[in-house]
Amino acid sequence: MSRTGVLIEISDSGRIKDTICGVLTAARGRDGNNEVYAMVIHTGQSDQMDELQSAASIDQMALYGVGKLIVITADGDLANSPDIQSASIVAAAKEYQFNSLLGLASASGRDLFARAAAAFNEPMASDCISVDLEGKSAVKSHFSGKTFATVQLDCTTMIATIRPNAVEPIKVSDSQIAAKDASYSIEIINFKSSATSDGRIKKVEVKKGSSSKLDLTEAPIIITAGRAIKDAANFKMIEECAEVLGAAIGASRAAVDAGFAPHSIQVGQTGKTVSPKVYIACGISGAIQHFAGMKTSKVIVGINTDPDAPIFSKCDYGILGDIFEVIPALTKALK
Ligand SMILES: Cc1cc2nc3c(=O)[nH]c(=O)nc-3n(C[C@H](O)[C@H](O)[C@H](O)COP(=O)(O)OP(=O)(O)OC[C@H]3O[C@@H](n4cnc5c(N)ncnc54)[C@H](O)[C@@H]3O)c2cc1C
Repeated sequence: MSRTGVLIEISDSGRIKDTICGVLTAARGRDGNNEVYAMVIHTGQSDQMDELQSAASIDQMALYGVGKLIVITADGDLANSPDIQSASIVAAAKEYQFNSLLGLASASGRDLFARAAAAFNEPMASDCISVDLEGKSAVKSHFSGKTFATVQLDCTTMIATIRPNAVEPIKVSDSQIAAKDASYSIEIINFKSSATSDGRIKKVEVKKGSSSKLDLTEAPIIITAGRAIKDAANFKMIEECAEVLGAAIGASRAAVDAGFAPHSIQVGQTGKTVSPKVYIACGISGAIQHFAGMKTSKVIVGINTDPDAPIFSKCDYGILGDIFEVIPALTKALK
C-alpha cells in the first residue's frame, strides 16, 4: 500500500484550512486506499496545538482519510526557520517512508516544498490542478492559463503542491473507515527532528493583509471588481454583496492600478491565483492576464455592459448589465 504525507496548514482562526481537505482527497490516490499521514509543524503555540488535536479537527482529518498525525518539533527555531521546517518535513518523510509528499500551493507551501524537494534531491511539481500519485504525474496550468500540461516526475518520492480548491474534497466512505478500523480516531505521533539551520534565512515578521476578511486564495466564492467600479468608495457595494454571499473580494489590475483596491487582492498573472467554486467578475473585461489567475474557478459569472467583452466568451453565466444596477439587485435578492 502506498503512503502519502500531507503538510497540514492552520488558518488564522486556529482551524485546519478547509482547502487542505482537497489535498487529503488527492493524497488517498486513485483508488482512495493510500495510507495518509498528516504532518503539522509545532510552532510553539500551545493553543494552536490544542485546536488541532480537538475532536472537531481530528474528526475533520479522519473524515478525509488521515490515519496518523505527526506533530513535528525541533530543538532549533522551528517556528521562524523555513530551512529547519523543510528539513524536518524531509526527515519525517524519510522516517515514515512516504511514497508521496503533498501540500497546499499557498505562500508557505510554495516556500517549504521547494526547499524540501531540494533537500530531498527530488523533483517537485508546484501549483498542480491534479496529481496522479501512482503514475507520478501532475496536471499544471501553463503559459498564464492558456494550456494545461501533464508533467511526469522522474522520482522515487513524489513531491507536489496543489492549488487551493483545485481538487474537490471527498470524504471517505463509512465502509472505508470501517475497513481501515480508523473509526474517526487518529494516532498522534510526536516526531522530533534534529534539523538545524545556518541561520541565513529567518522569519522576522508577519504582516497580515488588511482588506479582505476571507483569504482570497482559500475562499469558496469570490466577487471581483474591475476598472468599471470607478472609485474605491464604490467597493462598499461589492462588500455588501460579498457579505451576503460569504465571499472574499478581489480586484483586477486596472482597479488596483487606479488606486481603487490594494494589490493584496489583485487576481491574475501578477496577482493571486484563485480557484473558487464561484467567481463573479464585475465590470472586468476578461483580459488573458486576469484570466490566468482565475481560469480554474468551477463556475465563472461575468457582469459587463459590453456584449463583446472577452469575459462573455469565457464565463459560464453572463449578465449583460450595469454593475451599479446588477450588484445591488443581486444583494437585495440574496438577502
Ligand atoms: C505583464 C502583465 C501582467 C498583468 N497582470 C494582470 C493581473 O494580474 N490581473 C489583472 O487583472 N490584469 C493584469 N494585467 C492587465 C490586463 O491586461 C488588463 O489590462 C486588466 O485585467 C484590465 O482590467 P479590467 O478588466 O478591470 O479593465 P478594462 O479592461 O478597462 O475593462 C473594464 C470592463 O468594464 C466594463 N464596464 C464598464 N462600465 C461598466 C459598468 N457600469 N457595468 C458593467 N461593466 C462595465 C467594460 O465594458 C470593460 O469590459 C496585466 C497586464 C500585463 C501586460
